[in-house]
Amino acid sequence: MNVIEITNLQYRYHDGTEALRGISFRVLPGECLALLGPNGSGKSTLLLHLNGLLPEKLSGDGAVKIFGEAVATENLEKIRRQIGLVFQDPDDQLFCPTVAADVAFGPQQLGLSEAEIAARVKKSLAQVGLAGFEERATHHLSHGEKRRACLAGVLACEPAVLVLDEPTSDLDPRGRREFKAMLRQLPATKLIATHDLELAVELCARTIILDHGQIIADGRTVELLADEQLMLAHGLERPHILHHRHPH
Ligand code: ADP
Repeated sequence: MNVIEITNLQYRYHDGTEALRGISFRVLPGECLALLGPNGSGKSTLLLHLNGLLPEKLSGDGAVKIFGEAVATENLEKIRRQIGLVFQDPDDQLFCPTVAADVAFGPQQLGLSEAEIAARVKKSLAQVGLAGFEERATHHLSHGEKRRACLAGVLACEPAVLVLDEPTSDLDPRGRREFKAMLRQLPATKLIATHDLELAVELCARTIILDHGQIIADGRTVELLADEQLMLAHGLERPHILHHRHPH
């Protein structure tokens, strides 16, 4: 069964901006997929459709299905249990005074018992390397720690699919390295919108390139990213780590 199945998705913002123009693709269980494209190509808009954050009715025959079920107002709650969305800006996601309260918020919404919530908070903080941060104030965390706390909050809901918007932007090289290592360990199906081409090469076997709201390419990451002409034509570049490698 497809984890995500998007068919002819079109989306226009209120001001008339056509953000998505006929997007179709499927994601299988366990895949880790990079979503690349220049600023304004439609990556964030696409991610928002995966858990119904853009509630207007889709135009035409467009459909977004998660585990075979169309995303619609009636099943949003169920869909949001399956899809864990990590926003680009941690400050949009963290809103409780302490780390533990923030990570507990999602599981509380799921109606779990206190004991189960406590266990999930502990486990997900450990997964992201923030064990012992329970009582720290979220607004005093470093940028990298905020990103980890956001991820912990999402992991605490145990979603089958992780959707990440620019997870490594604004991180220093060590922070990026550590965040990538952490992501690699997580078994969920992953869809990662990013400008970090090394992340795409290291973590994602498959890449989709978007431009002007359309899919320009969908294939093996090493092949697409080694195609200098393709990359340059869409505001991207061939990553340095591929300069020493020949695609096979
Ligand atoms: P990306 O994430 O690839 O940078 P976005 O999905 O943010 O791209 O944007 C796609 C297009 O939609 C761009 O032209 C952008 O200006 C436009 N857009 C994004 N958000 C809004 C909004 N809230 N209202 C109007 N236009 C928007």
